[in-house]
Amino acid sequence: MPLPAAPVLHTVHLVGAGPGDPELLTLKALRVLRQATVILVDDLVGEQVLAHALEGLDPAPRIVPVGKRGGCESTPQAFIEKLLVREALAGEKVVRLKGGDPLVFGRAGEEIAALREAGIPFEVVNGITAGLAAVKALGTGWTDRRHAQGVMLVTGHPQTGGAGPDWDAIGAAAASGLTLVIYMGVTQAPRLVEQLLPRLGPDWPAAAVQAASTPAQRQLRATLGTLVDTLAREQLGSPAVLVLGRVLEAAALAEWAAQTAPASQAQASA
Ligand code: SAH
Repeated sequence: MPLPAAPVLHTVHLVGAGPGDPELLTLKALRVLRQATVILVDDLVGEQVLAHALEGLDPAPRIVPVGKRGGCESTPQAFIEKLLVREALAGEKVVRLKGGDPLVFGRAGEEIAALREAGIPFEVVNGITAGLAAVKALGTGWTDRRHAQGVMLVTGHPQTGGAGPDWDAIGAAAASGLTLVIYMGVTQAPRLVEQLLPRLGPDWPAAAVQAASTPAQRQLRATLGTLVDTLAREQLGSPAVLVLGRVLEAAALAEWAAQTAPASQAQASA
C-alpha cells in the first residue's frame, strides 16, 4: 500500500495589520488574508480590520485568537510557535496577523526561527507601525527636519529577566535631536521619565496617543516634567505609545490632524 501523500506545505505569512484603521491594511495583507485557511490573530488587531479583510468570504478561514497583551492573560509565545508549525505542517494556508508591523516589537524573530527550524517557507508582509500613526495623530512627523534628524523606536518594557533599555544613553541621543517613540511604555512611565529627566529636562515636549487611527483614539500633550501626572489624570488606556521630542512643537499640522481624527472621519462618511 502506498503511504498517504504528505500535505503540501504552503508559505506561512507573518502579516502586519497596521494600527487599527482597516483602510491602513496593505493590499498584500488583504490578498494573503483572503487566501488563508487559518489566521492566528493577536489581540492588538482590531476586530474591524479582520471583519473588513474577510468580508463576504465563504467559507471563512478559521480564526485562532492568540492574545499577548502585557499584563493580561496571554498565550505563551512557545505555544504560538508550535501552533504555527503544526497548522502549516497540516497543509493549512497560515497567516499570523499582528498589530502594526510584525517586525516592530512583534516577536516575529522567534516565530521565523521556529518556522525555519521546521523547514517551513515564510514571508513577512509589512504593516504601518503604531508609532507612525500616533505621531501623525499628533499633527507632526517622526522626522520633521526643522526639529529632528531621526527617530528611535524603543520599548518601555524590559524583556523578562533581561536588563531594560539604557535610558541615560537614549536620553542623550534624544537630546541630540532624535524623536523618541516609546512602545509599551505607559505603565513604566514614572520609572523611565525619572531616568530621562537629567538629560532632557522637565520642559522637553511629551505626548501620548491611545488607539491611534481608531475611533477610540485619544491623545494628550505634556512635558517630560508633567507627563506622569497628566497620564494619571487623563487615564489613557491600552494600547498607547509615548512620544518625546521637539517635533511636537511643529504645530503646522496640528489643525489638520484635529480635522482628520478618526471620529470626525466617521461622521463625515456617515
Ligand atoms: N508590532 C506593533 C507593536 C507591538 S508592541 C506595531 O508595529 O505597532 C505593542 C505596543 O504597541 C502597545 O503596548 C502600544 O505601545 C503600541 N500600540 C499598538 N497599537 C497601537 C495603537 N493603535 N495606538 C497606540 N499604540 C499602539
